[in-house]
Amino acid sequence: MADGAFTYQGGRVDPGEAQNLRYSISETYLGDPIRVPVTILNGAEPGPTVFLSAAIHGDELNGIEVVRTVAQDWSHADLRGTLVCLPVINVPGFIAQQRYLPVYDRDLNRSFPGSADGTSASRMAAQIFSNFIEPCDYGLDFHTSTRGRTNMLHVRADMDDEAAGRLARAFGSNVIIDSAGPSGSLRGAACEAGTPTITVEMGQAHRFERGFIDRALDGVASVLAEYGAHPTDLVRWPGWRTVVDRDEKTWLRADAGGIVELLHDRGDLVREGDVVATITNPFKTDTVRITAPFDGVLVGVLENPVVYPGNPLCHLVELDDASIRAYERARNGDCRDEPR
Ligand SMILES: [Zn+2]
Repeated sequence: MADGAFTYQGGRVDPGEAQNLRYSISETYLGDPIRVPVTILNGAEPGPTVFLSAAIHGDELNGIEVVRTVAQDWSHADLRGTLVCLPVINVPGFIAQQRYLPVYDRDLNRSFPGSADGTSASRMAAQIFSNFIEPCDYGLDFHTSTRGRTNMLHVRADMDDEAAGRLARAFGSNVIIDSAGPSGSLRGAACEAGTPTITVEMGQAHRFERGFIDRALDGVASVLAEYGAHPTDLVRWPGWRTVVDRDEKTWLRADAGGIVELLHDRGDLVREGDVVATITNPFKTDTVRITAPFDGVLVGVLENPVVYPGNPLCHLVELDDASIRAYERARNGDCRDEPR
């Protein structure tokens, strides 16, 4: 914006100003407003405009604490540019502590960019998108694994998009999964609208996991350093990094129904042929062993230890020899990326 102000429908935040606001995106059955909390921090000096969003899936909580901490606890005295902080996007889902919007169980993260005369989800999405997402230069959208599973911290980004690739590397995670944002996702719609955006996945739903939150805050600082928004911070190198082309093929799925024992944790290195999990019946007979088809790191694992045939057990990402050596050095030095 020419005068350095950040504007949204009904308001503006001038350079050097900060604002906490609640922005109406819809109405309840009682006719009360549904209001999304937003913090806008506009630095005194010009710079990039970056959004940080969380809880677009209402039960994915780790990112809320990341966004709140950046917005409320960090000093922004030297901020160049503007931060648009959206700690809870899916307010109805958050109140119900569920992933989807309670209205027809719609996925808000498949409703972007939305439209003013569409479905209820689409209208909410349009309000958020046009006011707080599209005006930004970059964005970070925080997620956790779906309920019943957990992830190590990793980034998802369309690495064919040069600007999104730069953003993904700047976050400094060990693992980047290269994929375009699904149709209707906040990430996909933002990238399409010219706002390069990545998603950060970490941990499980319904929890605050301090190690992940701290690690993600390091990632945010690194991103702000990369774009000169917080000029005193340093861009982070995670020690090792792997960019994975596609994720579908690396899900190890159950071949039998039953009760699962996982023999490794999220973030562990496993070697080809290692038994990763066993599936047993109630009599502990007919044990099925699931082995790793290649050397790699367990990015996601089951938390709720029951499966039907075909259910995902764990998400294994292949590592090359150089990455394995760096992983082992990091582990031996007790400074590996994955918090315990
Ligand atoms: Zn999510």
